[in-house]
Amino acid sequence: MYDIIIAGAGTAGLSAAVYGARAGKRVLVLEKEVYGGQIMSASVVENYPGIRKISGYEFAQGLYEQAMEQGAEIKYEKVLEIQNSETYKTVHTSLSAYDSRTVILASGAKNRHLQVAREEELTGKGISYCATCDGAFYRGKDVAVVGGGNTALEDALFLSGYCRKVYLIHRRDQFRGEKRLQDSLREKEHVIWVLESHVAALNGTGYLESVTIEQEPDKGKKELAVSALFIAIGQEPDNQPFASLVELDAHGYIKAAEDCRTSAEGIFAAGDCRTKTVRQLTTAAADGAAAALAACAYIG
Ligand SMILES: Cc1cc2nc3c(=O)[nH]c(=O)nc-3n(C[C@H](O)[C@H](O)[C@H](O)COP(=O)(O)OP(=O)(O)OC[C@H]3O[C@@H](n4cnc5c(N)ncnc54)[C@H](O)[C@@H]3O)c2cc1C
Repeated sequence: MYDIIIAGAGTAGLSAAVYGARAGKRVLVLEKEVYGGQIMSASVVENYPGIRKISGYEFAQGLYEQAMEQGAEIKYEKVLEIQNSETYKTVHTSLSAYDSRTVILASGAKNRHLQVAREEELTGKGISYCATCDGAFYRGKDVAVVGGGNTALEDALFLSGYCRKVYLIHRRDQFRGEKRLQDSLREKEHVIWVLESHVAALNGTGYLESVTIEQEPDKGKKELAVSALFIAIGQEPDNQPFASLVELDAHGYIKAAEDCRTSAEGIFAAGDCRTKTVRQLTTAAADGAAAALAACAYIG
């Protein structure tokens, strides 16, 4: 019987593991992929208080080692279902089942897809969701970014350092992202703004060769020859396995406030997977601490 089982080894989950293990609790972290979560794909982090500059990988590695040194355990298994009885919870995974007094859900969020035909087929063959991870493969090539927020603008700026031409496609006539980023992009002649347009088709044999865009309001079509399309249209939570366990909001995020308590007794939610306005490393780490301490208090 564990004291705390944590679903997800991102910043929130590993921070919760540090706090839980440090409080002397028996802690198991379950991760469906690799530890670290989203920040693994960030080339550099400059806004975590107390750390001036660090790569996403180094940040995640440090946090992972800290949690393991405190005595937390990790297993690479996907959490599929959680049964909540009055005295303990049973966490069913892709390989096994584990009992625990409390559970912290820290499943984060994942990139939203465009929902255009051939998107899955061409992922890794020109379609990417992470410019910082894959941008270097397209050095000297023509690429496109789709999206209107900060991530899309940052991706375009990043790619403009490597690529010959960067098309920035957005369905509205204005970007939502920060003016500072827009101003930096405006200064770059090889960044071409493609506004009031959406991606209608992905073309290529085996690899992406071009995207067809449809322009508003006349629905005129245009083909952009690109080697890559970076999709930066936001994120969505990955809370399906917990939908019958805890209350979710209209967007699928777990309803929990600052204390990280969910609608189910002894089940807590931390990080990007819960309803909140700011989704960052600082807020994920803060949630991890709050959820672990709330779990410790619940165990008594
Ligand atoms: C490219 C990029 C750059 C960023 N840069 C910054 C930055 O500079 N500064 C900043 O503050 N923030 C940055 N962020 C945001 C920051 O990374 C997130 O806010 C933070 O990672 C959230 O942590 P989390 O633990 O809640 O979720 P995640 O990091 O998403 O981790 C969740 C983990 O749970 C796992 N998981 C999901 N479902 C299950 C399941 N059923 N069973 C087991 N495991 C599961 C996932 O595989 C994942 O490892 C960036 C994000 C991205 C994508």
